[in-house]
Amino acid sequence: MGALNTFPLSYKVQGKRIVIIGGGDEALNKARLVTKTTAQVVIISRQIEADFSGFEVEVIQRAFRPADLDNAALVFVAEEGADAELAKNEARSRGIPLNVVDVPPECDFYTPSIVERAPLTIAISSEGTAPVLARLVRARIEAMLSPGFGKIAGLAGGLRQRVEHLIQDGPARRRFYEALVTSPRVEAAVAISAIAGQSEAEALLERHVSEGSGQGAVWLIGAGPGSEDLLTLRAQRLLQEADVIVHDQLVPGVVVDMGRRDAERIDVGKAKGHHSFSQAQINTLLVRLAREGKRVARLKSGDPMVFGRAGEEIAALRQAGIVYSIIPGVSAALAAAADTATPLTLRKVSSGFVTATAHGADDADLTHWSALAQSGLTLALYMGKSIASDVAARLVAHGASATMPVGIVVNAGRPDMKTYSGNLQSLIESDVTFADGPAIIFVGEAVAAGDWANGAQLAARSFKVA
Ligand code: SAH
Repeated sequence: MGALNTFPLSYKVQGKRIVIIGGGDEALNKARLVTKTTAQVVIISRQIEADFSGFEVEVIQRAFRPADLDNAALVFVAEEGADAELAKNEARSRGIPLNVVDVPPECDFYTPSIVERAPLTIAISSEGTAPVLARLVRARIEAMLSPGFGKIAGLAGGLRQRVEHLIQDGPARRRFYEALVTSPRVEAAVAISAIAGQSEAEALLERHVSEGSGQGAVWLIGAGPGSEDLLTLRAQRLLQEADVIVHDQLVPGVVVDMGRRDAERIDVGKAKGHHSFSQAQINTLLVRLAREGKRVARLKSGDPMVFGRAGEEIAALRQAGIVYSIIPGVSAALAAAADTATPLTLRKVSSGFVTATAHGADDADLTHWSALAQSGLTLALYMGKSIASDVAARLVAHGASATMPVGIVVNAGRPDMKTYSGNLQSLIESDVTFADGPAIIFVGEAVAAGDWANGAQLAARSFKVA
């Protein structure tokens, strides 16, 4: 004997009525759910209190009549009283499945949480006992499936006969369908229009028939600052679809672990016992993997387009004719601003912010930045931790005010985040040893508006060399 007291099934409601007795919020909740179907949804109550105007429903304000259940596939009772009792009895005597909202013993069926990508439906049921758990699971599944997934599933259905005719080999057919539901090109086309999706799907089919294999692709994915919950939903989904994950050293293990369990992982920051890969080697690697038909997640810290050498990788992919797309991520400066509640732009104080690399900055850069900082822009300097006091000294030498506020965030967006604050002068004089990890240096008047109280204050050395 099994363990389930209910049995999940897909019940036909097309051409029938779904009747909801009640006019309040609970009736509205059910309406929201059942208007996902093509059934005719009818709301009946003497008191209509909720606003049903956003839904395709027929609202009838009067007492319940037995004939209301003619041609009904399902009945929901979402109010109490004489009408409700009458409707329950009528549904039961007609054998129409009945749901009495929040009264499980009176229900013939429960409504699952639904992830809808018509015609694909995923229903999550806890037999009415753990709705919170069901909603959590639902949120995870939502994140896994692109919004256009159902349309792509529809495309697959429409192509079925041609695919069977054109691709005889079973595994090859399966590879085509896998490519279809995960192709970034088809996904992008479906988002534009059904016709665009159709023609992209047909092009993919032609390529499969002529080449006999799936086409690879490279996704340049922003991993964010290093916490798994600062990934975008799209990044998370593509990490689940990738065959290979190529990542930098700056992307922490917890984020790399978000990928599909059996995906191959290549750390181009430190290949076991070897030197790290050169940029040219990474470019070649990406092209080779894609040519082998693999879907490659090129995972970069923060946002791929900010100090990520994305430009070189994109040029190589373009030149090789490889399909690619870019998924943005939370750049370190933005995570650092969030951690310290520092508004990078602030009315009347800072009219913008500049991201720049402190590494290798020459005198011309420094003159430029000190002018920008003096003019009220916030500087967000990347790759500057080891040379922080030197950069501060040179900014002052090039005209920045020594009292200009400074804030430094090490490991922004991560559990081990640490902050330091002061001004250019105290940064020059401080002998602080920063915590391990990557850092962002903020310089500008707006920095003083942030919340730096929980961090270390940069202080001048206890003794000074005259
Ligand atoms: N593409 C990345 C930047 C890569 S360059 C992004 O958009 O964030 C590497 C530099 O980024 C580091 O030297 C450091 O300045 C910064 N950085 C990356 N991750 C960081 C983090 N979690 N906290 C603070 N700075 C970080």
